[in-house]
Amino acid sequence: MLMYYREDRPCCGPYWESLSYDDLSMTPQQPSSAGPALPTPGTSLRSGKVWRNFGRNQSCVPAVWERPTTEEELVAIIRRAAVTGRTVKAVGSGHSYSAIACTDGHLLDLSDYSRVLHVDRSTGLVTAQAGIPLWRLSEELAAHGLALEVLGDINYQSIAGAISTGTHGPGIKFSNLSSSVRAMRLIAGDGTVLECSAELHPEVFSAARVGLGALGMLSTVTIQAVPAFNLHAVEEPLAMDRILSDLDDLIDNNDHFGFFWFPGSKLALTKRSRRTQEPIRPRTKSAKWFEEVLVDNYIYGAACKVARRFPPAAKTIVSIASQKSAHDWIDRSDRVFATPRLVRVIEMEYSIPREAFPEAFTRLGRLIDSIGTPITVPVEIRWSAGDNIPLSHASGRDSAYIAAHMFRGEPYDQYFQGVEKIMSDYQGRPHWGKLHFQNAETLAPRYPQWDEFQAIRKRMDPDGRFRNPYTDRVLGLVDQGPS
Ligand SMILES: Cc1cc2nc3c(=O)[nH]c(=O)nc-3n(C[C@H](O)[C@H](O)[C@H](O)COP(=O)(O)OP(=O)(O)OC[C@H]3O[C@@H](n4cnc5c(N)ncnc54)[C@H](O)[C@@H]3O)c2cc1C
Repeated sequence: MLMYYREDRPCCGPYWESLSYDDLSMTPQQPSSAGPALPTPGTSLRSGKVWRNFGRNQSCVPAVWERPTTEEELVAIIRRAAVTGRTVKAVGSGHSYSAIACTDGHLLDLSDYSRVLHVDRSTGLVTAQAGIPLWRLSEELAAHGLALEVLGDINYQSIAGAISTGTHGPGIKFSNLSSSVRAMRLIAGDGTVLECSAELHPEVFSAARVGLGALGMLSTVTIQAVPAFNLHAVEEPLAMDRILSDLDDLIDNNDHFGFFWFPGSKLALTKRSRRTQEPIRPRTKSAKWFEEVLVDNYIYGAACKVARRFPPAAKTIVSIASQKSAHDWIDRSDRVFATPRLVRVIEMEYSIPREAFPEAFTRLGRLIDSIGTPITVPVEIRWSAGDNIPLSHASGRDSAYIAAHMFRGEPYDQYFQGVEKIMSDYQGRPHWGKLHFQNAETLAPRYPQWDEFQAIRKRMDPDGRFRNPYTDRVLGLVDQGPS
């Protein structure tokens, strides 16, 4: 996950700012005035237009762009595609670095299928259409005195996109977002709509919570929200030695803990938070250096751009960081979890068993030292609770997440291949929405419930309506799986 850079505006807005429809710069508020590249809601458009992800490292040319507004339209598109033999993919906010959302068939933009349908304040169960972005869902929940239990570093993702790749936040007591899903309406490859939950089609439900978009089209998602809460957050530069010696304490005695390590340095920027009943005490402007100055954007982004040409500038960044002291504040949970990301990077993220972290991290340090070019973007480390979802990165184990980044346009192969090699020694599982070089053969042994997932896939999508080259690579072809 880290940061993104938007040349035209210094501050991130909601998710559509990250959708880059080639030469198009429209937002959902201005759907029809932006030219012919997107169909108006509820219609299709045949075009040779290029779709690109937010990271601008993936692109595709869908045969048809669709912008459905109802479940009936979703079903009709899938049935139509079954007749023509085309494939179908929904895109969320395009925030995956992997090619998981690419298609040369029907591309479904769900930005007009993104409403909250039902909120039950007493149980906290909330049902929303698949395209709702997490930032808007969080706002609507807050209005009802509710919140998502955990969020990642950003909230631009759609709910369907986020759960489809197993998006997680920080915190060893908390599992990924998919673990909060309680029910879904899922459309199979033949257009049949399935109500799934722990009671209805439980095996489909279980697998589709992290479905990689390969088990069907999510129409609605019902999520377990929790009573709204504030987080007391502390950001502090700490020596790596100290972090490593106090690691268990930092992980276990905070609700949420993670850090950004500057490769090659002895310093990291830590962020920890605890749930609190205390009222909001916002960050002062001067205390925003961690996010705004160092990690995310202006000076850091500019310095790193310079560092690309003049690597010693990276040392200056570390030296600025080392002079900063801890600061704390209290805010609404979603505002503490998710922050604007203003520097555009390319990312790989691996999950490994929690206990493997210290050794893997030492090896990562050695790898970085051995690479000729300096790595100027920090490595982000977080921890998450295990879960029971077949293709979740944390399936069956509490996990450490290690995320390596490079600036867009910089060669990342040597670094990322090296990271992957290390993580593979610990049964590492790559984030489905981030870059990796694995395939079905190398991945299958790392997921105890791999065969169960493949059997559900064969049942839900026997003709491969929801396949694309990425799923072919990481899951294999549908008819190659077990029956
Ligand atoms: C700056 C940045 C920060 C990030 N931070 C984090 C983080 O903190 N933690 C983390 O775990 N990840 C993080 N990620 C990764 C991100 O959360 C995932 O890649 C997520 O899947 C993106 O959601 P999206 O809505 O953009 O989905 P997309 O990338 O558009 O799509 C992802 C998958 O979901 C499928 N999909 C979308 N809608 C549907 C639907 N209705 N039915 C079926 N399938 C569907 C797509 O077809 C595709 O297969 C980050 C990414 C970026 C760019």
